[in-house]
Amino acid sequence: MKKKLTLIFGGVFLVLLSSFITGKIVSFDQADEQSVLGMLYQQRAAEYKALCFQAYNLAKERIAAARTAKGAHKPLAIITDLDETAIDNSACNSRLYMHDSTVTINSTVNTLKDWWLHKTAKAVPGAVDFFQYAYKNKIDIYYISNRTATPDIINATRENMHALGFPYTSASDNDHFLFCSPDSSKLNSKEYRRNLVEQKNSVILFLGDNLADFDKRFDYKNIEDRNQMAQNLKSKFGKSYIVFPNAVYGDWESVFYNEYKKAHPGQPLPIGLKESIRRGFLITK
Ligand SMILES: [Mg+2]
Repeated sequence: MKKKLTLIFGGVFLVLLSSFITGKIVSFDQADEQSVLGMLYQQRAAEYKALCFQAYNLAKERIAAARTAKGAHKPLAIITDLDETAIDNSACNSRLYMHDSTVTINSTVNTLKDWWLHKTAKAVPGAVDFFQYAYKNKIDIYYISNRTATPDIINATRENMHALGFPYTSASDNDHFLFCSPDSSKLNSKEYRRNLVEQKNSVILFLGDNLADFDKRFDYKNIEDRNQMAQNLKSKFGKSYIVFPNAVYGDWESVFYNEYKKAHPGQPLPIGLKESIRRGFLITK
């Protein structure tokens, strides 16, 4: 009992200390508790690391095969997503969760922007080694991300990646960064940007953690259509499409709330409702 009380008071003290350090009131009751396991998987699981190494090892093999194949008349190129494919933002997610758990990554553009400008994201395991391998093999690399296409965010991302050792990240390499238009009336599909790269290059590989990183047929779809499309395109995975694990966020999760969003346009989704919607999608037999 005494030990239990000590643990409880110790926990309260840590929460108060955390509030003091951050200057914010911590509200764990609003936390998206279900995201914690995903964050821990990304940050601590050796299996996560192994999956990333596996993906990049496969990508290296594909480059070696493309280099020996004949027939491409345009320069060989790779299109890659950034967040949770090449760079690891899990510390941002954990920080949001610990310091102000009412905030989620999907509804806090300002906080997310702060993180981008902070330039402290780490590399996904195996990423720098792989992109350096591609660079040394004379493969062009295009970073297509849905980070916002404003000069401050592009420059901060480029500098963050330059410090980590990624190629094509010098001050003169901004044409390798194709980010999302800040005009909210425009769609955030990556299709237009992929087409721009494909007009001048023979794209041998696409890398991403979200299936919309690969093909427009994954844009804005429901769960059944996404799964059917993955089935239809199964021969491409591990060949021209290299997929990375992301158990924290992505279209795989946001698609659960499509019906709510349709019925309540522009309104935030309360965390309790979010969790009950998720439970409704569990398969139990
Ligand atoms: Mg991503």
